[in-house]
Amino acid sequence: MKRKLQWVLSSLFLMLIVGNLTVLANEYVVVAYVTSHSKTNPDPTVMTHINYAFGHVNKSFNGVNVENEPRLRQLVDLKKQNPRLKVLLSVGGWGSGRFSEMAATDSTRLAFAKDCQRVVEQFRLDGIDIDWEYPTQSSAGISSSREDTRNFTLLMRDLRNALGESKLLTCATVASGEYIDFPSCISYLDMVNVMSYDMGNPPYHHTALYPSEITKWMTTSEAIEAHLKAGVPHEKLVMGMPLYGRGVKGYYLQVDSLEGATKLWHEQSMVPYFVDKDGNLEMSCDNERSLGIKCQYIIDHQLLGGMYWEYGDERQEKLRNTICDVLLRGKPTPYPADYAGNRVRFNALFIWNPSAESAHVEFDKQALQFFHKLSYGDGFRYDTRTECPSSLDTLKKYDVVVMLNTLPQSKQARKAFEAYMEQGGGWIGFHGSAYNDKHTDWPWLNQFLGCGTFLCNNWPPQPALVDVETKHHPVTRNLPSQFVVPASEFYQFSPSPRANENVEVLVSISPKNYPLGIKDIVNFGDFPIVWTNKQYRMIYLNMGHGDDAFIDATQNLLFTNAFRWITLGQKEEK
Ligand code: ZN
Repeated sequence: MKRKLQWVLSSLFLMLIVGNLTVLANEYVVVAYVTSHSKTNPDPTVMTHINYAFGHVNKSFNGVNVENEPRLRQLVDLKKQNPRLKVLLSVGGWGSGRFSEMAATDSTRLAFAKDCQRVVEQFRLDGIDIDWEYPTQSSAGISSSREDTRNFTLLMRDLRNALGESKLLTCATVASGEYIDFPSCISYLDMVNVMSYDMGNPPYHHTALYPSEITKWMTTSEAIEAHLKAGVPHEKLVMGMPLYGRGVKGYYLQVDSLEGATKLWHEQSMVPYFVDKDGNLEMSCDNERSLGIKCQYIIDHQLLGGMYWEYGDERQEKLRNTICDVLLRGKPTPYPADYAGNRVRFNALFIWNPSAESAHVEFDKQALQFFHKLSYGDGFRYDTRTECPSSLDTLKKYDVVVMLNTLPQSKQARKAFEAYMEQGGGWIGFHGSAYNDKHTDWPWLNQFLGCGTFLCNNWPPQPALVDVETKHHPVTRNLPSQFVVPASEFYQFSPSPRANENVEVLVSISPKNYPLGIKDIVNFGDFPIVWTNKQYRMIYLNMGHGDDAFIDATQNLLFTNAFRWITLGQKEEK
């Protein structure tokens, strides 16, 4: 007997040495929920714990039923490949009831706890996870009582007594941290898995890290804070992350693309999301980038680790690997949440009109991509909208408002924008943002732009030779004195902005282009296309039609200069 013990001890020692080579310098946990109906055989090296979903309180309230027992045995067998893997039975899940009745009396509660111990023994499990959604609540169609919170504590006590100290007892909790009296039961629990997902339906994000206009009820960071406040110590707290998307059609297992939708990244909420052609949120999810950032949050806040629902199939592989890389393999997150270069210098708002003519929409989409790339490293944060906000307070959150081919339509939005500019707001307008004719009915716009209404245009869009009129301005300082801008439609205004003493013209169409156009021809006339009205912090750029706008390095430099000047340059110069 003694000899055998010695052998066990020395092989344990060997395993530690060998194990050291492959796994775990860190002590974070990664909990993967694996469902009874899934078919994939999980890779047991990418997590530390498997929670098998699900078992249920039985009909007589005194025991537990396990779904698909062969599947559970198959998962326990994975320990042969990873001896450190822990496998727990999760009891409950959305719509799984009878907790309230079971927990209400000593006899049923003790019998249930004893039966959980029986299941742990029988299947060689490492513990029990209680996924009661939720004590005192019947929103999942289950029975509940006001006594549930108190009885939940008694249930934890009895489960701990039945399982003993060597087994794990964990629970899954609502994001808000409500319904459980943590101070009274936390000593019985090894970890608390926060279900920080399903926190919103379109048009809101279901698992944003931080609050913004795309979140409503809660965010992941708020869920973590709520649990800390409710009495869960950080060393028992596990952040939940979804490996699925939630959208207008329900549940999406494919999260890196969505047919017919545009993928966007929210700089404030630190999550990806998909919008339809009208700019409405169609599906919200996590991706490798947002999961990396969430894992970094776990590290920064010294939480116990991360949990995800659910293991899934090969479509979730990259997502699982990201979590494993950051939390278990100690790899730096590919997109750190906080680092020295990540100090937000300003906030920008981009406004576009997805239902404008298609050549304008094409430009707008490429412009959003272009400016998104400029935000690399999170040096600035931006939001995207399809209408100008009608609240001055909202506008004031931004250092610059970039209007692509759109301008404020409603009276309220126009008033807010006027006030924003009069009070020192920043504006960059492209192409259609200055289009106004006798129907526009907005005299302020003309004095703001410093020019008259639309006079004429060239058609079709075509490249044009342009004159850079001054080298004494930050926007044009590093540009050649002439260059050819990519194909665009250009608007000529009357009177010309040059007639306005407050206007400084920076770039104009060279007269050498005349006659410019084929169908619509501009034959003559002063033709400024980039200017600033010195009364305001603004610059207008006439380009912005079609999909050629971002193919020319010189023009890109002009756009970048303009953006830089409005957001930073004027401040730096003072
Ligand atoms: Zn146009």
